[in-house]
Amino acid sequence: MIVGGVEAGGTKWVCAVGSGPDDVVDSVVFPTGAPEETIARAVEFLGGFDLDAVGIGSFGPVDLERGRITTTPKPGWRDTDVVSPFASSLAVPIGFDTDVNAAALGEHRWGAAAGLDTFVYITVGTGIGGGGMAGGSLLHGLSHPEFGHMRVPHDLERDPFPGVCPYHRDCLEGLASGEAMKARGGSPLELEAEYLALGVLNVVSVLSPEVVILGGGVLKEEGLRELVRGRVTELAAGYVETPAIVAPALGDRSGVLGAFELGRRILAVI
Ligand code: ZN
Repeated sequence: MIVGGVEAGGTKWVCAVGSGPDDVVDSVVFPTGAPEETIARAVEFLGGFDLDAVGIGSFGPVDLERGRITTTPKPGWRDTDVVSPFASSLAVPIGFDTDVNAAALGEHRWGAAAGLDTFVYITVGTGIGGGGMAGGSLLHGLSHPEFGHMRVPHDLERDPFPGVCPYHRDCLEGLASGEAMKARGGSPLELEAEYLALGVLNVVSVLSPEVVILGGGVLKEEGLRELVRGRVTELAAGYVETPAIVAPALGDRSGVLGAFELGRRILAVI
């Protein structure tokens, strides 16, 4: 079986063909441009292979039923039909989910969440996103989780920065994303760790994950994950057991490899 995987991000798209981490036949990375040309580029790449299925993990918010990106503030991308151009050109089954659920699935199949039923994957980069599984099923609901937009306490004396989220200003993403750090003119590591720990503790309190996978560009900062881990334990104050907070075992490839698995799963369903 050979599957096409697409990690459709807000800043870049990663496309690959293969069946797993040790079997990537070919791959390509390009910056996210206008919707039509970006999608066409991915379709053209995948069209060069004889595929059994395609999996797409997309930035959001997305409408999972209709295969579309919906209310994104990213210019030009609002209400973009992602799945149809792939389905009509490639004529194979298409699995579609959020980029973070795809990454979570990749970590579940081959990485830090192998063998676990309930875990989360949180990425802190330009934005903040989260996905995962509860009881062995990917987290879906009315639409899908949006970890980045949970509200966290914002001490205006300690941090007068108003936040950058165009919808909520000082939600978690508004205060602690890479975009927020840049707009603040640099964030002290302790402040960043504080916000991320508050966010992680909220997730831990709601879902009781066995493991929290914490990744993304911002976590490349030396020592940050350890600071978050320590602060989560302090904030939990001994009331709930805090899970391990680990790096993605697949590194930057969780998303695109998870997209392989999305494709494989859609075949299994059919
Ligand atoms: Zn927000």
